[in-house]
Amino acid sequence: MFVAIEDVCFSYTDAKTRALDNFTLKIEKGEVISILGRSGSGKSTVLRLLAGLEKPEKGRLVIQDEVLFDDKTFLQPEKRGIGMVFQDYALFPHLTVAENILFGLFRMKKAAKKKRLQEVLELVELQDFGKRYPHQLSGGQQQRVAIARAVAPNPHLILLDEPFSNLDAELQGKIREELRDILKKANITSIFVTHDEKDAHILADRIVKLKDGRIEFVGRPCDMLDTYRQTGIQPLTDGFVEKSLTGVN
Ligand code: ADP
Repeated sequence: MFVAIEDVCFSYTDAKTRALDNFTLKIEKGEVISILGRSGSGKSTVLRLLAGLEKPEKGRLVIQDEVLFDDKTFLQPEKRGIGMVFQDYALFPHLTVAENILFGLFRMKKAAKKKRLQEVLELVELQDFGKRYPHQLSGGQQQRVAIARAVAPNPHLILLDEPFSNLDAELQGKIREELRDILKKANITSIFVTHDEKDAHILADRIVKLKDGRIEFVGRPCDMLDTYRQTGIQPLTDGFVEKSLTGVN
C-alpha cells in the first residue's frame, strides 16, 4: 500500500468534539482520492495532518514505507515529500511562471533543474508561458502553474485544497478533465478536498465522504451513486442522483 492512514484522531485545542475520529484510508500509487463533505466536516484537517501542520492525537501515517507519524515519530513537514496546491494557488506574484516552478527545486543541480522545468511545463501544457507573470495568466493557467510547482520536486503525494473554487462555472467542467489528465499522465498520487459532488465524481478514482469528522462512505463514484439510491445517505447537492443518471458518471 502506497499511503496508509490508520485510525487517526484529532481535536483542535478547546474544541468539544473531535475534528477527525478514527480516520482510516489506504491509497494505491497513482490513485486520485477525493475527500468530499460539507463545510466543517473535517476535510482540511485531513490535509493538515498529512502535511504535518497538525499532529494527530493518535494513529499512524505512512507513505511508501516511511512513517510520518506514530506514537514515536513526527516527521517534519519539509521532510514528508508532500506537495500542496492551495485554493488561491499561492503563486509568487513577482516571479515568472518558470521562477515559480524552479522555487521548489533549489536542491537540484542547474542542468537537472532546467530539464525538470521543461518536463513539468510540458505536462501542464504551458511550454510557451515560462516568462509570463501570474497576473498575465487566466485562472485555469494559474492553477496549472500551481500544479506544476507542486509536482516538480517529484513528491510522493500531492494535496489539493478545493482546486476549483476560484474558477468560474464555465471553466470548471473543462478544467476538471484537464486536471485528471495531468494527474494520471504523471501517475501522481493525489488527494483533493471538495464540497462539490460533481468535482468528486468526475475527477476521483475513489471518494471518501466525511460527515462530522467521520467517514460516511468510501468507494468508487459509481458505487457512491448506488449507495445514495439504496441507503439513507444524502448527496450534498439536491437532485444529484437524478442528474447523474443523465451523464455525470
Ligand atoms: P472542512 O475543511 O471540511 O470545512 P475543517 O477540517 O476545516 O473542515 O474543520 C473541521 C472542524 O474543526 C470544524 O468543526 C471546524 O470548526 C473545526 N476547526 C477547524 N480549524 C480549527 C481551529 N484552528 N481551531 C478550532 N477548531 C477548528
